[in-house]
Amino acid sequence: MIVEPTFGYWKSIDIIDRIDKPIIITMKEPWAILKPKISNIPSQVIFNSSMDTKYLEELYFSLRKTIDDSETIIGIGGGTSCDTAKYLSWKSHDQDDIHINLILIPSIISVDAFLCSSIAIRKKNKVNYIGESEPNEIIIDFELIKKAPKYLNRAGVSDTISITSALGDWKIAHEEKDEKLDKRVFDQAKSIAENLMKAREDIQYINDNGIKALVNGFYNEVKLCEEWGNSRPEEGSEHFLAYCIESITKKHYIHGQIIGLNILISLYLQEQYAEFSLEKIHRFFNDIKLDINPKSMNLSNEVLKKAIKKVKNYVMKENLMYSVYNSSKLDLDKNIRNLMRFIKSI
Ligand SMILES: [Zn+2]
Repeated sequence: MIVEPTFGYWKSIDIIDRIDKPIIITMKEPWAILKPKISNIPSQVIFNSSMDTKYLEELYFSLRKTIDDSETIIGIGGGTSCDTAKYLSWKSHDQDDIHINLILIPSIISVDAFLCSSIAIRKKNKVNYIGESEPNEIIIDFELIKKAPKYLNRAGVSDTISITSALGDWKIAHEEKDEKLDKRVFDQAKSIAENLMKAREDIQYINDNGIKALVNGFYNEVKLCEEWGNSRPEEGSEHFLAYCIESITKKHYIHGQIIGLNILISLYLQEQYAEFSLEKIHRFFNDIKLDINPKSMNLSNEVLKKAIKKVKNYVMKENLMYSVYNSSKLDLDKNIRNLMRFIKSI
């Protein structure tokens, strides 16, 4: 079950000071901000940058002797800090039946990982999702989030705004594959995306309301997908093309930027099935100053062209959900010149 985040100004400091000898999992930047402000002394401060399963297991074994049910682990930072904290709490429960108190304090809101119960670990350099972690609290500290670069926080529109193209894929899957489409869930997803777009000015400035809009967008979207049972309302062809690009270049991109670009490509290809107009979404990206130009991500035309040619086979091979890329009505070989011209015009 998803945990509803609580908001506050320097709330991270209150939390750290309230808990007796917490174990803190963090990164250099947020810890440098918080350390001078707290009066409590944590039992341990662990900086972790690796989600490799072997390393995580070693980390757990080194902590194992000292932890019991009274322990609190606080993850403070980006995805790696929060996922490490989630892993340690899951592992102690799974292996030793210890119930650690888990608190997550994201220092940046560029992706929704801090809200998801699954844990992203790496096994032989491949991402695996394991476990079900249940944090006791998720804290959104306005002051801490505002210290992260604005362009990264703005990229947090990614997994909420991807609804705009995921819905078109859902309609295509419904019509061509008779996949179940629930009108209530569909409309709810649509209004989550529309509400996010209403907060465009606040998102551009990353002020309190902008942070709230981004976090609530994530919360509502994750909750809706949990209720529905899969990520159909939120994830579709825009994510699949990103996975395909990443499988070619073996690079990671800022999620909001690559998903943003791919949403426009999906809306262009979905034609009459697109639930949102291309112009409307493009304007939203411009208004919040999210740079979705391929050049800003060091994504060459050659790689894009290669990925677009490959994506149909890729989604079938990876057994991804039915989307515009599966549709027999889409002839990418024939349309590639027009599509590349469109991408250049973005
Ligand atoms: Zn995503």
